[in-house]
This record gives sequence, structure tokens and C-alpha cells, in this order.
Amino acid sequence: MASSPAPGSSPDVPPAPPPAAADGDAPPAARRLQPLRHLLPYLKPYKLQIALATLFLLGAAGATLALPAAIRVLVDGGLMLPGGTPQDIRLDAIGDRFLLLFAASVALGLFTAARFYMVTWIGERVTTDLRQAVYAHVLTQSPQFFETLKTGEVLSRLTTDTTVIQNAVGSSVSMGLRSAVMMAGALALLLATNPQLVITVLAVVVVVVLPALIIGRRVRKLSRASQDRIADASAIAGEVLNAIPVVQSFVQERAEAQRFGESNEQAFATAVRRTGTRAMLTAFVIIGVFGFLLWSLYGGVQAVVEGRTTAGTLSQTALYIALIASSVAVLAEVWGDLLRASGATERLMELLDARSPIADPPQPRALPAAASGMRVTFDEVHFAYPSRPGQQVLRGLALDIDAGQTVALVGPSGAGKTTVFQLLQRFYDAGRGRIALDGIDLRELRLAELRARIAVVPQEAVIFSGTLLDNIRYGRSDASEADAKAAAAAAFVDEFVARLPEGYATQVGERGVRLSGGQRQRIAIARAILKNAPLLLLDEATSALDAASERVVQAALERAMVGRTTIVIAHRLATVQRADRILVLDHGQLVEAGTHAELVARSGLYARLAAMQFNPEGVGAGIGMGGMPA
Ligand code: ADP
Repeated sequence: MASSPAPGSSPDVPPAPPPAAADGDAPPAARRLQPLRHLLPYLKPYKLQIALATLFLLGAAGATLALPAAIRVLVDGGLMLPGGTPQDIRLDAIGDRFLLLFAASVALGLFTAARFYMVTWIGERVTTDLRQAVYAHVLTQSPQFFETLKTGEVLSRLTTDTTVIQNAVGSSVSMGLRSAVMMAGALALLLATNPQLVITVLAVVVVVVLPALIIGRRVRKLSRASQDRIADASAIAGEVLNAIPVVQSFVQERAEAQRFGESNEQAFATAVRRTGTRAMLTAFVIIGVFGFLLWSLYGGVQAVVEGRTTAGTLSQTALYIALIASSVAVLAEVWGDLLRASGATERLMELLDARSPIADPPQPRALPAAASGMRVTFDEVHFAYPSRPGQQVLRGLALDIDAGQTVALVGPSGAGKTTVFQLLQRFYDAGRGRIALDGIDLRELRLAELRARIAVVPQEAVIFSGTLLDNIRYGRSDASEADAKAAAAAAFVDEFVARLPEGYATQVGERGVRLSGGQRQRIAIARAILKNAPLLLLDEATSALDAASERVVQAALERAMVGRTTIVIAHRLATVQRADRILVLDHGQLVEAGTHAELVARSGLYARLAAMQFNPEGVGAGIGMGGMPA
């Protein structure tokens, strides 16, 4: 995946003098946060919530800013009557002022709670929408996409990256805004009460903030790197967890744990580097800010002692400065969070920007309603998989299969039989040449319409977690229970359903682990029968089935073929003999075609493959027609 580094964050810039980073027409800070701009469309639907959150934010900031003023009034007007004695203190007036303070606190509490609720709501909502959008988009990608990006990596982006964004939108932004508003308010009030201090304060803020911006750039790059490492670890885990039986039978648990551990440790190391940088930033900001605070308090105390100002004004000023200081500290923290979120957004946008090379045509043509099967044509098709452009898998393959025919594809392993199925479903586009259904080029059809006309029974039936009935209805969730059960009966599923604890409502478990190979096959066949598509693609299961269950599966397949065009990747002689025509592929070309008897008589490649099946000794297991080395 082409990762385009954000402009302005060129990774190879030598240690130039730091201020140079601030040069250029657009402020580099803004450019580094640019990926976040992609989140705006996701915020747009929630204008009302954002307005409410802003309102609560301003309310809370107002209440916070009112507190120092109230305290000054309290100190100067109540506790420190000039020249007064304790007896002169008007207790009733003090009581009123404390009530006022309490009122401000109540307002602060309520506004803060409301803001927290609203902002978190927005963060959760936006992340939920974003996750959904990315997932839905990824589902439409062609297999090519998943050849370069592992599923574990996609999952990691869906979970960890969205969490980072949620954290930023749901809390950092609100903390940042609150701090910014508070800082602006405190500065304004300071300007009103103690104007000569403002210049100094601003100078300090600049001195503290500039380095923060510079360190921030490093934080973002490290954030992205650490998310990448987490994704690497997830990719490994995803692959391995899907193949646990193999891992365990080869006793690779420790080796796999170690492989994951290396990736995991790398993620840790990157996270630690990121955190180290941020920790530096934090120390710098706190020391800078508190140093300044103490220094100005020291000056203030001197002023009170010399009678240049009152204790109340000093208290108020000190509180404002404390507010400004803590706001700066929070802003530095928020800056780090935003940079992290920016890195995460970038990673998610890469997924969202991926355009599948297989897409609907702008003006799709409609397929005529098929009575019994469809005609399938391969017209001089050349094809190489995108991941291996140098290896021609199909070289001028020409096929013509009439509607309603049953055709067996045979040929040595690697001849291109599975590739024919992939191209028919348009998972890839042919390089040169043309593939057509009923005379219409596949590329002129809507993908959904094309695939609605094809039912596939793969070699390894895929079962999803859920009930048995759900699995049969996969692809036609609107089918009535009666139709689904009829399809199940046709595929001899009902034979074993009776023995399941809850019949059709039995949970079959993730990937159907609670079913036998033959049972899974029959479910896949029932699913294809229920789909009732005019073109049936069968990839025969080779060795997963014992003789008895193979016979049942064969019988189920026979029923599925009735009234359809069927293409079978045949591994068994029984299937081959029943086909109207046998097409023999070798090295991506059609080398022979005819019936079993015709082809045997020709003593070509087919005759040799068939002989091997009848007399498998000496040629490995000799399984099926595909067992021979190419
Ligand atoms: P068959 O089904 O006849 O055994 P395939 O159609 O599966 O043959 O494979 C034909 C050739 O294409 C093989 O050389 C195989 O290595 C290659 N191939 C299959 N799938 C891919 C893929 N996704 N990417 C690259 N090469 C592939």
C-alpha cells in the first residue's frame, strides 16, 4: 500500500536548526494534522450535538473563570478589611460570598458533566460510523486487495486505530477546547486586572509551546509506527488462529508464540519510544510552566509586601496564571493525542481510499432471464495474477459451454482450473480476451447481477457461526423456511439434521467445527440449490470424504445440476464420465475436449491422467485428475 507521507513531514530531513521547521507558507503544524480533515464528513451529521457540547464547554469555562474573581472579592472584601480587626468581619456578608462561590461550583460541576457526556457521545458515535464505513468498504474489495493486506492488519486498523481516534475526538478535543477557551479567558481577564504581566505570560507560552510543536512531529511519526507494529502482530495472530490444528499437529505453538512475541515486542519498543518523547515533552512543559508560575508569585508577594497591590488581586492573578499554566500543559498533551489520531486516521483513510479494480460498469447491461442455464464463453483469454504479473496462468484459453450442459474441467494441478472459476465470478479481470455469459462480456454486467447468476460449491465448504438454517439461507436470507428445508432435503442435509441436538436450529460453530467434512459439503450444496442460479460451479472435494458420504454428496450434486449449466473441476472419474463434455486444460490452454470414451481413445494427456486414476500405484496418491505433476 502506497503510504504517502504527509507533506511537510519528510522523514529524512537532517538535523536542521529547529526553527526552520516553522518556515514555509502553510504552517507545518496544520499540515501534520491534515489527515484529521478526513474526519469532518463524519462529524457533519452531528451538528446539534456539537453545538450543545460547545455550549456546555463555554458554560464550564465561564464558571471556572468566575471563581478567581469571586475569591478576590472574598479575600479583599471579607477576610482582609484594611485596618479591620477580626470582630469587624461581617460574617453574614462572608456567608453570601461563599454561597456565590458554591453557585459557581455547582454550575461548573453541571456544565462539566454535560460537556463530558456530550463530547464522549460524539466521539463514540463518530468512531462507530467510521468503523462501519471502513468495514463496509473493505468488504467490497477484490481478492487482490487481501493478497497485499492481511486480514489481521485490517482488523487491527478497525479496532486499535478507531480507538485512538475515539480517544482524540471523544476526550482530547474537548479537553483541548476547554483549555484553549480557558486560556483565552484567563489571558483576557489578566489583561484587565494586571496588563503588564500579559506580555511575560505570552512570552513564556511561546517558549514552552514552540518546542512542543517540534517534538510533536516526532510523536506522530512514532505513533504511526507503533500502530503499524501492532497491526503486524495482529496479522500474525489472525493467520495462526485460523490454523490452530495445523500449528498444534506440527507442534509449532512455541515457535508461533515466539514469532508473535517478536512483533509484539517491536510494538512495545516503538510505543516506548513514542512515550519517551512525550514524557520529555511533559517534563519540559511542567517545569517551564511551574518555574514561571513560582517566579511570578514571588514577584507578586513582594508587591503585596511593598503595598503595591492587595492580597486579593494577587490571589486572583495567581489563579489566572495557574489556569493559563495548566491549560498550556493540557494543550501540549492534547497536541500529542491529536498527532496520534492523525496517524491513525491516515491508516484508516488508506483503507477507505482503496479502489477495487473490479467495479460495476458505468452503464451496466442486463442479463436476459435464464430459462435453464447460461452459455459460457472464454474467448482467447490471457491472464496473470496481479501479484505475479510475469507468470501467464491462462494463455489464450478458449471455451464454449452451451446452456444446460455439464462440463468437467480436468488437467494437472496448476493447469488453471480454479483460475477459470475465479475469472467467471470476476474476482479478477482477464488481461487479453473476453469472458462472456450468454454473449455479454462480464465487464458489462453489474457485479451483483453477475454473481447472482452463479452458485459455487467450493472444495472446502465455508460455514459461518450461526444455526444450520442460517447457513443454508446464506445468500438468500429472504428464503422461506420451507424453501430452505426443501433445498436441505435435496442435498441430503435432512439425513443428518435429525441426529443434531436442535435440528435446523443447531448452532454449528465458527467455521462449522462441529460438523464433519461431508456434512459441511452437503450444507454448501443445499446453499447452492437454494440460490437457484443458472450457472453452477463445483470444485469437487478431493479427499475430505469417506466413501459412504462421498456417495451421498455425489447424489446431492446430481440433483443440484438439474436444469443448470454446470462446470465441475473434476477429481473423480465418476463425475468425469457423467459429464456431457470433458475439457482438458494444461498450462492455461485447452488441449483436449470430448467425452470420456473419445478422449481415452486419443491416448493423449487425458488418457494418461485417467490411467493413473485406475492404477494409482507409484504416482503418489494419484488423487483425482489433478494429482499429476504439471
Ligand atoms: P488448478 O486449479 O488447475 O490446480 P490454479 O488455477 O489454482 O490451478 O492455478 C494456476 C496457476 O496460478 C498456478 O501456477 C498457481 O500457482 C497460480 N496462482 C493461483 N492463484 C494465484 C494467486 N492468487 N496469485 C498468484 N498466482 C496464483
